[in-house]
Amino acid sequence: MATETAGPSAQRGGRQGGRPALDDEGLVFETSAGVEVVTTFDGMGIKDDLLRGIYAYGFEKPSAIQQRAVIPIISGRDVIAQAQSGTGKTSMIALTVCQILDTTSREVQALVLSPTRELASQTEQVIRTIGDFINVQAHSCIGGKSLGEDIRKLEYGVHVVSGTPGRVCDMIKRRALRTRAIKLLILDEADEMLSRGFKDQIYDVYRYLPPDLQVVLISATLPHEILEITSKFMTDPVRILVKRDELTLEGIKQFFVSVEREEWKFDTLCDLYDTLTITQAVIFCNTKRKVDWLTEKMRSNNFTVSSMHGDMPQKERDAIMAEFRSGHTRVLITTDVWARGIDVQQVSLVINYDLPNNRELYIHRIGRSGRFGRKGVAINFVRKDDIRILRDIEQYYSTQIDEMPMNVADLI
Ligand code: ADP
Ligand code: MG
Repeated sequence: MATETAGPSAQRGGRQGGRPALDDEGLVFETSAGVEVVTTFDGMGIKDDLLRGIYAYGFEKPSAIQQRAVIPIISGRDVIAQAQSGTGKTSMIALTVCQILDTTSREVQALVLSPTRELASQTEQVIRTIGDFINVQAHSCIGGKSLGEDIRKLEYGVHVVSGTPGRVCDMIKRRALRTRAIKLLILDEADEMLSRGFKDQIYDVYRYLPPDLQVVLISATLPHEILEITSKFMTDPVRILVKRDELTLEGIKQFFVSVEREEWKFDTLCDLYDTLTITQAVIFCNTKRKVDWLTEKMRSNNFTVSSMHGDMPQKERDAIMAEFRSGHTRVLITTDVWARGIDVQQVSLVINYDLPNNRELYIHRIGRSGRFGRKGVAINFVRKDDIRILRDIEQYYSTQIDEMPMNVADLI
């Protein structure tokens, strides 16, 4: 593995066409030998009609991870790609999938698996949009939706399926999702997908897939124990990794508020409400019950908030997502169902009402803000007995979490 820095940091914070540039952010990677850096989409050998889709979507230049990982993926290599949150990994899934499809066939050729329904459908949406000019047929196979509709769509014929493991497996077993032409499997949020909760389901899907399958793993966090098991189902993978002390982004400022006791958190949140609504904010609690409780309590104190968690009916989850994505609602109280992958560019503030239960979740939660080089602020509510956890996170990622300043609103 070689360590290299992504381009001159002089360009840091530059803007292109109204979007912050994230192509030369001074990000440091450890890459396998032979990984080249291609700094334009034009230089990647991408199909013309797909290039049109990429530019029409507003992408002008590939991000640092896209500059390194697109070529190995579209040339058929197994790839393990890690990069900071919000730096274009999931978008890269969409564009590489579109590149490898033969749209003259109507068979499923690529399968993307994600840990949540919302992320799976977000990815399907990006595939559809980027792949508009190549006439890609994409379908999201996720729990909570009509089985009949899934079966109909799959029988009609699609090129790519983006789904959650349970529903995908179900569709395979019903023979509605035929796997013989699948050549590429991508696990987004791969460390989550290979962790205890999902591993068996992933294996369940994997054993139905053809033997010469290409496998790509993507995540901002790839702990050692996950990297260790990849040799079981990957062949000589190209690795593009980030050291954990390079994982937090300069653009996301991290703070804590000492609340002493649990009871004080609520008043602290109320005091921050005006700050929450400057743009959009996400508030994380550790349980669904607590999300319900906090939502009720905020509402009964006349604050406008919306909330979402995994026990709500899918229709309601969809409606809340749509409202939040469109900016109709500004404050979302939620669980870790929202921790990974969800991309709402206007989110500039994340509150950990409860500290997350592990180090990886911390990176993913704060990464809901500061998307693609934008500014973000994360505020951690810390009880007396939480201080150790906060210090551990700080040390583990070699980052700095300061006491929240009075003028925090100015940083958003
Ligand atoms: P990640 O999966 O790494 O968290 P995403 O793929 O979700 O990141 O991208 C984060 C945001 O950046 C999205 O809004 C996406 O549209 C945008 N984005 C991704 N790649 C580019 C690019 N090359 N140019 C401009 N914007 C991009
Ligand atoms: Mg992502």
